[in-house]
Amino acid sequence: MKSKVRIRFAPSPTGYMHIGNLRTALYEYLIAKSQGGEFILRIEDTDRNRLVKDAEKVIYDTLDAVGIRADEGPNIGGEYGPYRQSERKGRYLDYAKELVKRGKAYYCFCEKSEDEGSESTPLSGHKDRCRDIPSEEVNRLLGESKKYVIRQKMPLEGKTSFEDLVFGKVEVDNKELEDQILIKSDGYPTYNFANVIDDYEMKITHVVRGCEYLSSTPKYNLLYEAFGWKIPNYIHLPLIMGKNEDGSTSKLSKRHGAVSFEDLVRKGYLPEAIVNYIVFLGWCPESNRELFTLEELEKEFSISRISKSPSIFDYKKLDWFNSEYLRKKSDSEFIKLARSYIAGAVNEEKFNMGKIAQLLRQRISHLDQIPEMIDFFESIPEYDVNLFQNKKSKSTLESSINILSEILDELSELASWTYNNLYDLLIKVANERGIKNSSVMWPVRIAVSGKLVTPGGAIEILEILGKEESLRRIENAVKKLKNLNIY
Ligand code: GLU
Repeated sequence: MKSKVRIRFAPSPTGYMHIGNLRTALYEYLIAKSQGGEFILRIEDTDRNRLVKDAEKVIYDTLDAVGIRADEGPNIGGEYGPYRQSERKGRYLDYAKELVKRGKAYYCFCEKSEDEGSESTPLSGHKDRCRDIPSEEVNRLLGESKKYVIRQKMPLEGKTSFEDLVFGKVEVDNKELEDQILIKSDGYPTYNFANVIDDYEMKITHVVRGCEYLSSTPKYNLLYEAFGWKIPNYIHLPLIMGKNEDGSTSKLSKRHGAVSFEDLVRKGYLPEAIVNYIVFLGWCPESNRELFTLEELEKEFSISRISKSPSIFDYKKLDWFNSEYLRKKSDSEFIKLARSYIAGAVNEEKFNMGKIAQLLRQRISHLDQIPEMIDFFESIPEYDVNLFQNKKSKSTLESSINILSEILDELSELASWTYNNLYDLLIKVANERGIKNSSVMWPVRIAVSGKLVTPGGAIEILEILGKEESLRRIENAVKKLKNLNIY
């Protein structure tokens, strides 16, 4: 009988969710779910020096926000717990001692091993001289409570290879493999050891992670072999790159823009749009369809369509996905999402939020564009009179004075300030003068907004501003133009 697919997401709690990590979680979840398998959350929090407050919560909140539900995890429980690595600390030493017994690991008493405790500076091919200390000598040193680390004993010759489901055959010369530390001098495991033990104990069938782990995998496999355990399937994921200003690419980092889920959400990207976009960073479906819900992806996803070539994070494409999702929201959903961004720029009490929301809806790709687009409602900026000049709508400074003066009179007479009445009035002025509608709309829009580009046209802005404020702004515009003494 085929065993049930079990895939884990094993984030270190860093305090934020990098897009690359979220993509890993998403692919792991989708690979598991598309095969009726289980998705397990394991928190790799053994690096106590780097612990960040509430960092675990960021992980739960992110998975929640995008709709990824774990079947097992620290906050859920499960048969193979604990799911927090710090709570598993006691388990690893015995495994390492077993390896020593099997001749696949050894005690190393070298002092330099102390500062080499992290995995950050692996020494390629390093084989330590403690490999060959006779066992009586080892026992003597242990008896003296001499500090030690336990290192993996790599074969001196031959090759180790494995078949990655995305990258294909990967092979290394064993002499290139350093005798990496498994247990540090404080008795705790390195990541390189703990991940193998945890994956084994948690019955993980597919190990899915970033391709930066490709070169470590042969070492992990030698551990599985040393224990006589079944080696899991491996799926390494392609790099995510960012585009640099000079057109080159490099690993996606802060200098390319927002790179964490929280930052993107703060900028007003919707979780479902983020998920939909990032699933394409290394995968594509058979058809050229682009919009998928998570549920649809659970059916559609397949390992065979994961690519090994790096993908480029394209903020414009993310904008496109987000606008699609924003447009699909109902009015009330959109207002709910946009409310805090609108309220940051204008006084909610003074303006009709629904009308402002409608203006924005078709025009934004992320919500944090809102304040800058609508702040003119609250107070009109200092603007350059030359904005009144526009070739296409045949608007000049002179024509603007005339039209605005007339409109000011007509508008002050207008009894009911509705969209339709405003529309009829402006069109009537254009018709009577025998000029294009836009020759009227242009100066009015500039006069009430002070901006070259606005969400919505003159009439929508007049309607939202209300009579009093509209008249005041047009009056000021007329004064401003008259002060130029162009006659
Ligand atoms: N804790 C590791 C990380 O966050 C997990 C790598 C793995 O999936 O094994 O990079």
